[in-house]
Amino acid sequence: MITDGHNHTKHFSADAGQSIDELINEARSKGFTRIGITEHYEIDYPDYEGLNWMFDLNEYNLAFEQWREKAGELELLKGIEFGYQKHVAGEIDKVAASIPLDVVLLSAHLFRGEDFYMVRDCYKLPAKELHSEYLGIMAEMCEMCNNFDVVAHYDYINRYTDNKDDFVTYEECPKEFDRLFEVMIAKEKALEINTKSIQKHRDGGFTRSLPDAAVLKRYKDMGGKLITFGSDSHFPGTFAVCFNEAVEYVKSLGFAESVYFKKHKPYFEPL
Ligand SMILES: [Zn+2]
Ligand SMILES: [Zn+2]
Repeated sequence: MITDGHNHTKHFSADAGQSIDELINEARSKGFTRIGITEHYEIDYPDYEGLNWMFDLNEYNLAFEQWREKAGELELLKGIEFGYQKHVAGEIDKVAASIPLDVVLLSAHLFRGEDFYMVRDCYKLPAKELHSEYLGIMAEMCEMCNNFDVVAHYDYINRYTDNKDDFVTYEECPKEFDRLFEVMIAKEKALEINTKSIQKHRDGGFTRSLPDAAVLKRYKDMGGKLITFGSDSHFPGTFAVCFNEAVEYVKSLGFAESVYFKKHKPYFEPL
């Protein structure tokens, strides 16, 4: 079984509703031997509901030691998912380097200062303009930051639109994807297949749900080899969602391996 490298718990992620025990039990019952826990850390995040999107790093270190004891044979990779904004790029690199971690995910949850999840005004823009600008932010994020391992959910922008045909494709923004992949490949950063996105599109009745084949093919053609899989689980019952299907799909596009990170070093697993 390959690694599910992107999961949250309610102990450190403001929007998660599962305990570490629930996550461990579910991973075990689904036959996993290794999972990543990547709690949200959003520096200067807009205060929508008074939630705390940062946490005490020492507390996280201490909790993680206990979690590893509990988990026993199930290997826990210690990670953080940072939320990117241009003005906090330096701070992300600093925080990421200040704590021993296995894996750092980098995400862009905000668009023009607002989270898609909370404020949906951006979806009034023409889709091509919205997607190009968002992919441009992803590319900028990879240029600005260095202390990370994985670019998480490049398709996050798809999740909250009401237009069910609205889907990020390579065809719409080739320049931005090429710029993103060029930096990622030069810096040896991995591309995540986020299976929560797949499920969300399916549940929402989208016409498409699996990531655009042309995006993954282009990444491969440019020399990209580092693919991770993450279910981005926040609640019980969502760990490793759509995993088998996503793996088969990525395999069908010519990838033979996925990767996980331990102490920021990539380890390969056959698909
Ligand atoms: Zn995220
Ligand atoms: Zn996440």
